[in-house]
Amino acid sequence: MDCIFCKIIAGDIPSRKLYEDDRVLAFYDISPMAKTHFLVVPKQHIASAQEITPDNSGIIAHIFEVIARLAAERGLADGYRVVTNVGDNGCQSVKHLHFHVLGGEKLSEKLA
Ligand code: 5GP
Ligand code: ZN
Repeated sequence: MDCIFCKIIAGDIPSRKLYEDDRVLAFYDISPMAKTHFLVVPKQHIASAQEITPDNSGIIAHIFEVIARLAAERGLADGYRVVTNVGDNGCQSVKHLHFHVLGGEKLSEKLA
């Protein structure tokens, strides 16, 4: 499948990894939008949050556990933002579910 995040997960495209386990990978965004900006993705290819079902929703809980742990470890105790873009109107450019974690500084009050 021609999916850039599946290639990063497979190790075919290099990335700056923060964390990996059997279900998820976290790596720094190549084009950071905040002082700290990393992505957390399921290893299973799920196209977007719109594809979450009762069968695969367990990964979401795990992703948020990982985000909380990484935020604590990476000095984001003063707060941060978690974003997932969905589809064309949401400006999702990579069609593999991912959560942006943005922080390390005061973020804009505007979400969009
Ligand atoms: P989206 O726009 O789909 O919500 O976010 C995709 C994100 O993936 C963007 O912030 C973009 O900078 C990041 N990205 C795209 N290609 C790569 C890549 O090859 N490596 C890394 N580390 N990030 C990427
Ligand atoms: Zn994928």
